[in-house]
Amino acid sequence: MASTASHFSLSLSTNQTASPATPKLSTKSSHLHCFQSSQFLSPRYSIELTGKCVSVSTAVQGRSLKVCANSAQVMDQFTTKAEHGVPTIVEVDLGSRSYPIYIGSGLLDKPELLQRHVHGKRVLVVTNNTIAPLYLDKVADALTRGNPNISVDNVILPDGEQYKDMDTLMKVFDKATESRLDRRCTFVALGGGVIGDMCGFAAAAFLRGVNFIQIPTTVMAQVDSSVGGKTGINHPRGKNLIGAFYQPQCVLIDTDTLNTLPDRELASGFAEVIKYGLIRDAQFFEWQEKNMQALMARDPSALAYAIKRSCENKAEVVSLDEKESGLRATLNLGHTFGHAIETSVGYGHWLHGEAVAAGMVMAVDLSHRLGWIDDSIVQRVHAILEQANLPTAPPENMTVDMFKSVMAVDKKVADGLLRLILLKGSLGNCVFTGDYDRKALDTTLHKFCKS
Ligand code: NAD
Repeated sequence: MASTASHFSLSLSTNQTASPATPKLSTKSSHLHCFQSSQFLSPRYSIELTGKCVSVSTAVQGRSLKVCANSAQVMDQFTTKAEHGVPTIVEVDLGSRSYPIYIGSGLLDKPELLQRHVHGKRVLVVTNNTIAPLYLDKVADALTRGNPNISVDNVILPDGEQYKDMDTLMKVFDKATESRLDRRCTFVALGGGVIGDMCGFAAAAFLRGVNFIQIPTTVMAQVDSSVGGKTGINHPRGKNLIGAFYQPQCVLIDTDTLNTLPDRELASGFAEVIKYGLIRDAQFFEWQEKNMQALMARDPSALAYAIKRSCENKAEVVSLDEKESGLRATLNLGHTFGHAIETSVGYGHWLHGEAVAAGMVMAVDLSHRLGWIDDSIVQRVHAILEQANLPTAPPENMTVDMFKSVMAVDKKVADGLLRLILLKGSLGNCVFTGDYDRKALDTTLHKFCKS
């Protein structure tokens, strides 16, 4: 089994001697600490991601620090054909909470992969009424084959973003209590991002935390939502406003599950794949420009490569900043605009990736308006989203006021200041900052809205 676990070497550069008020960035062992520093929550700081290097600066003190995370890229192209039943492993490096992401075709036929991460003898599979008829028996078999001591219960939730709410979450707790599950049980999320987020949150809260495994079955979930431990539900006033950071024991990605995924859902997931290229991996973006048709045609090797490289990017960022003190926020390129779209048009009408795609176009427009990127990047973003059949503008009924009212309660607002992820510099570089011209944001909103 090939492990692509990343080992970081960090280097520090500073243009001024750090004062005691400055986050300390020096050794490998201190990198998690530095990104958990509450100072990073301060809106005075901007986070700048130059490829794989992170800079932190404050306009007030004119000080900047740079941390480079150099992880060896294991494969630059998809040249090898994925072998059935043989996983590629990407490791999420979080100390005692580290876990593997298994990626490959036929992995649900390998019971030992799942069973080694099951704690106790009781398992609750959380899924929905679309996925259950397709994969529930297969997963139950993988959990129990050769191990008759394991008993598997399931709860089948209604399908849809509109059910990512408290009432539906209660159905998981109802089933868990009715089945008298105890602390030694394992919750398994079988489905897309909605199921993964809800099951993870239920696992975090049930008996104050039980074991949890992710089996993501959409591109969106395989490249993004199943990795990194963000779990939660929506509130009518905003997406994902209620939740917890809670890491799984493992993520098992059987790429064969994508064979049943509708085209529109497939494309929605590619929005997040494109995002990784834009914020931190120019090489990957260039690869996507050449291979988007293969991805849309579900070429298994292209899909496996895109999933692996996306997971590597996400794992690197999460390892450095698990609880989103700064760096991890860069994964939300386009999401502030996108969440406003999803919340305003009603959950489920626009798919998450579609809203993110339109949101990325708006973020890119603002970045260009501020003079931070050149026109060629704007064109390339439009071109790749069009290749992926993704929207390049918000829905026509969105108004400036709709955007503003939802953006005002965005989780990235700090001290009343809305911080955004914007592109800056050459392809693959971004900033997370509240230090931008508000008039330029207004102009962008007016450009994309009729009123
Ligand atoms: P989803 O979970 O609603 O799944 C999309 C649709 O595909 C659903 O109808 C589902 O039943 C169906 N489906 C899933 N797998 C299938 C398969 N293999 N074959 C056939 N149909 C299948 O949507 P999503 O795009 O996977 O996830 C979106 C959600 O993820 C949003 O709620 C978003 O907020 C969340 N998200 C979370 C994170 C995170 O870090 N936690 C990151 C990104 C997105």
